Amino acid sequence: MPYAYDDQNIFAKILRGEIPSTPVFESEHTVAFPDISPQKKTHILVIPKGPYRCYDHFVQAATAEEQLDFFKSVAKVAEQLGVSESAGGEGFRLITNSGAHSLQEVPHFHVHLLGGEPVGPLTCK
Ligand code: 5GP
Repeated sequence: MPYAYDDQNIFAKILRGEIPSTPVFESEHTVAFPDISPQKKTHILVIPKGPYRCYDHFVQAATAEEQLDFFKSVAKVAEQLGVSESAGGEGFRLITNSGAHSLQEVPHFHVHLLGGEPVGPLTCK
């Protein structure tokens, strides 16, 4: 079944400037901004500018250029925020939710970048 993209989702509105955000990073195909409800000292959302609903949609439908830009951007954000080991930090966790079982809230592909302090066990029951 093809992926449907709802362009009324919150991140689409942020990308169109209809809802405010404070970008910490921007490239040709990618934007990063703080999560409105941070779960750790560092909690940044990294999103592609293109209309992709989730990770699997992005990998299926985005161009190679968009995908490379996105994944390199995630690493650049981690470095810029000082959480990556290459920047002298102590590491970070990436999380992406896809679909109902993951409890994905916003249907625009995004990666949560969490760090700045220990992030705890991988999952909870
Ligand atoms: P998901 O459950 O889809 O992986 O995560 C969606 C995330 O988006 C949540 O962590 C939530 O706090 C964040 N979020 C929801 N609305 C807004 C908003 O208007 N601005 C920002 N910056 N983050 C939002």
